[in-house]
Amino acid sequence: MSPIVKALRDSSESGFSTALTILGILLWVYFVIAIVAMMALKPAMGLLYILYFIGGVIFVVMSAGWYRAHAFGNMTMLSPRQFPELHKMVVEGAAQLGMAEPPTTFLYNSNGMLNAFARRLLGRPFVFLTASLVDVQNDEQIRFVIGHELGHHAAGHLRPVKQFIQAPGHLIPFLGKAYSRSREFTCDSIGCYLSGDAEAARSALGMLGCGCRRLNANLNCDAFADQEGLVPPFFGYLTEIFRTHPRLTRRIRAIRAHVQRAELVRAGLAQANPTAPVIAQYRPDYQGNAQ
Ligand SMILES: [Zn+2]
Repeated sequence: MSPIVKALRDSSESGFSTALTILGILLWVYFVIAIVAMMALKPAMGLLYILYFIGGVIFVVMSAGWYRAHAFGNMTMLSPRQFPELHKMVVEGAAQLGMAEPPTTFLYNSNGMLNAFARRLLGRPFVFLTASLVDVQNDEQIRFVIGHELGHHAAGHLRPVKQFIQAPGHLIPFLGKAYSRSREFTCDSIGCYLSGDAEAARSALGMLGCGCRRLNANLNCDAFADQEGLVPPFFGYLTEIFRTHPRLTRRIRAIRAHVQRAELVRAGLAQANPTAPVIAQYRPDYQGNAQ
């Protein structure tokens, strides 16, 4: 992970990641011991669990291969010959984040759905953008979205070994979701670093809630962010802990702090946490330094 990406990480991400890794290792050890014990007592049952595990691994590998074949055969791959302006955003962004290679990026017909996501398929990094997202957003907004998705790769969120080790830790209620939400803040921060345009980043997120191309330019992000104050505290908390992504109002409110931190990182000033007071204005849950 490059020092820039490290500096842009959300303060809570490394804590959740470490907790998931430790719990994941402990649970894997428990599973192995349990299966060995079962093999001694009920060999047929132990063998069945081993077959389940092997079947699960085969399913994951086959799914990745299937999706990769589907993408190359049915989606539009960005390249110097195909939508070069979008491809350039991916290549330049990956270079700025110190990535060894830019992810292969596809644009695809989502039949109206606004979405973008990053995946790792058979060891290679990929980014997927829906056509509707590109339709409704301007270049600066798309640059933020691409930066966010590059962030998932640059920050190591999709490394297969890490995901494998941490997988059992997701059995702990809410921990995996909390980790996921912290990763989203990290990637918003990385998107802001690459975009450098707070209003583009805020409106890019706002558009995910609005989704209306005709009104894109007139979206009032302050009004959208102010809706956060209208979220019922108890049910807002309850819905949040079940979600992999923070609600949009929280993400929009954090954007200006992300951009300020990105500017400090760019200037080489993000050492001991000079941005904590700034971020705390937008993120009441913000407690510490990016590492
Ligand atoms: Zn994300």
